Amino acid sequence: MLYISLALLIFAIFFFWQSNRQRKEAGLPGGRVIYTDTRGWGEVEKPLFYAALGLTGKPDYLIEKSGQIIPVEVKSGRAPEAPYDSHIYQLASYCLLVEKTYGNRPSYGIIHYENRDFAIEYTKELESALIELLADMRVDEGKKDVARSHDQPSRCKRCGFRHVCDQKLA
Ligand code: SF4
Repeated sequence: MLYISLALLIFAIFFFWQSNRQRKEAGLPGGRVIYTDTRGWGEVEKPLFYAALGLTGKPDYLIEKSGQIIPVEVKSGRAPEAPYDSHIYQLASYCLLVEKTYGNRPSYGIIHYENRDFAIEYTKELESALIELLADMRVDEGKKDVARSHDQPSRCKRCGFRHVCDQKLA
């Protein structure tokens, strides 16, 4: 269990470090604003797991819609102009887990901020970028130091890992 928690923490930190570079390479979708009715949202009881990639995670909610199961990631705070790359990758990993768990590929997932929701298309390109990122993480997880990939103090200010990160700005 400790191993999984640690893996998840490293996974999340790596999302933040790598997101800039990956976004440039992958041309991540920016997301479109949608309206969602939270009454239909079902909480997820236990984490989803996909052994082939050693990937695990628990979306905040799953929605059944038009024969699809759509993952929802809830973020505290007001929405940025466009979802952060780290949030997009996190949601993409949930889309992948939903597909592998239920055998039903979601065409999109939802990032829910306090004041706005974004639908993120789960494209083949996004899936490939995620799989590449996971492979990069595996290469880097044995390294002692992984360099920060950006120079944006504002990002570090909002980052949930600043209390454990020795590379934070500001
Ligand atoms: S505090 Fe800054 S450098 Fe550290 S993980 Fe967060 S965003 Fe990256």
